Amino acid sequence: MICAVHAVIGAAIGKAANHPGKAFAGGVASHLIGDLTPHKDLSAKVELPLLAVTVFLIFLKYGIKSPEFWGAVGGFSPDFENAAWMFGLTKKEDCRFPTHMQNGKFHAPSVSTAVPQVILVAACLYYLLRPTNKRD
Ligand SMILES: [Zn+2]
Repeated sequence: MICAVHAVIGAAIGKAANHPGKAFAGGVASHLIGDLTPHKDLSAKVELPLLAVTVFLIFLKYGIKSPEFWGAVGGFSPDFENAAWMFGLTKKEDCRFPTHMQNGKFHAPSVSTAVPQVILVAACLYYLLRPTNKRD
């Protein structure tokens, strides 16, 4: 799944968790589910800047101590091992996250469109940015 999508899903989970540690754990768990869902991945040249901008905006909006920020970090952090492999720092067989392992049997097949991910991001952004009543 697109790293920025993992981050936005993690931020939404962080809002629901309302605790940085639980948000991080929820973000990591959501990464597993995201990778198990059929999706389109982008090239590293697109993924990295998109992720950087997304995480920076979450940081600006919520702050570094917020559950939203730590949910986002948990959401994309499993892909550090994929990035290390892509940049030749490690071997594919060194990956330990279940959906990144060399045989790839736990990673969902690729699809030709990113539209479902865009819809998922829109839903998460609605949840994150909707006006809320103070009693919520
Ligand atoms: Zn992944």
